[in-house]
Amino acid sequence: MNLELSEEQTAVRQLAKDFVAREIAPHVIEWDRAESVDRSIVKKLGEVGFLGLTIDEEYGGSGGDHLAYCLVTEELGRGDSSVRGIVSVSLGLVAKTIAYWGSEEQKRQWLPGLTSGELVGCFGLTEPGTGSDAGNLSTKAVREGDSYVVNGSKMFITNGTWADVVLLFARTNDAPGHKGVSAFLVPTDTPGLSRRTIHGKLGLRGQATAELVLEDVRVPASAMMAPEGKGFSVAMSALAKGRMSVAAGCVGIAQAALDAAVTYATEREQFGKAIAGHQLVQELISDIAVDVDAARLLTWRVADLIDRGQPFTTESSKAKLFASEAAVRAANNALQVFGGYGYIDEYPAGKLLRDARVMTLYEGTSQIQKLVIGRALTGVSAF
Ligand code: FAD
Repeated sequence: MNLELSEEQTAVRQLAKDFVAREIAPHVIEWDRAESVDRSIVKKLGEVGFLGLTIDEEYGGSGGDHLAYCLVTEELGRGDSSVRGIVSVSLGLVAKTIAYWGSEEQKRQWLPGLTSGELVGCFGLTEPGTGSDAGNLSTKAVREGDSYVVNGSKMFITNGTWADVVLLFARTNDAPGHKGVSAFLVPTDTPGLSRRTIHGKLGLRGQATAELVLEDVRVPASAMMAPEGKGFSVAMSALAKGRMSVAAGCVGIAQAALDAAVTYATEREQFGKAIAGHQLVQELISDIAVDVDAARLLTWRVADLIDRGQPFTTESSKAKLFASEAAVRAANNALQVFGGYGYIDEYPAGKLLRDARVMTLYEGTSQIQKLVIGRALTGVSAF
């Protein structure tokens, strides 16, 4: 593994740093308080190529490798996890999955819009009654002639209220030979599909998180992605790469926590000197720094494995598990450095902590990551 960045990777990271400074940083507090980032950010992300990373230019993508994708995701996560999540879902879970599993027609139909930011994608797996046990989902798609009729509901769907297309997972006919879960690309304006914004989130307040309800939603059979019954494999392969993207976002949170803690500690004085000069404050800061480095190296290893065509699923779970827990620790330590000021939103640590907390929950909780890692090590499934 080469830990030196190439010229292209260095350039794309700088592009992301500049983008965050210009388009995100000035609005972070305002978007968090308003519970919505400005939707125009999606188009801007598309224009700069961040919604097309790793996707072939033939389909409107901007190319690049997975390390470049991680570098951009980290910078976006450093700026605002709500914006980072828009990219991780619309590109990471939807466009990249279409690029891998989709038919030629599906790629041509959806990828140019998703990579340019004209369209937004969302990933519909979780249901009110099935989260960790996603394979047990109950949304049903029943074949009727050349169509499927879908009924059910989806919970906690990132980008849900903004999305133009949902990568939807539904149980197809239970008739012999038709068992299992299948994946569909469903335009969100299809009659029978309704959406409700979920308010009151602890963090990621800028994100349009929604519940989707599907009542007799009719989709053409051509909207199915991958063969019937392969939907769970589609979902798991999307999440395996998605976990790397979450991990990279967490590195960004932890780096932001470190930067903020160091700056504040050198400026704030107590007991006649900068608090940076107190040993226990240095302990807080050095703990954050070690978490940043360890999380980043685990995340880069996943990118390197993917780019070399090697197996990466277990490493992705390790990176996501460690980086998400590290981001929570780092943000909490930074908040401690800020003292009482850490508790109000004019200072960054509180939001970093609120945003970090969900990273240990979605795309598989920390407990689920441990079961994935444990299964790989022992050969025994404890699910
Ligand atoms: P549950 O599965 O009910 O788990 C509750 C607790 O039980 C957890 O601590 C869990 O670790 C533990 N547990 C469960 N099973 C086991 C086990 N076998 N062994 C040990 N412990 C176990 N989903 C999507 O499909 N698309 C999205 O875009 C999306 N975005 C999200 C955005 C936000 C802000 C949030 C909060 C969630 C999002 N989710 C999304 C859903 C997320 O993936 C689920 O919340 C997550 O998978 C956990 O499911 P659950 O909430 O039903 O918890």
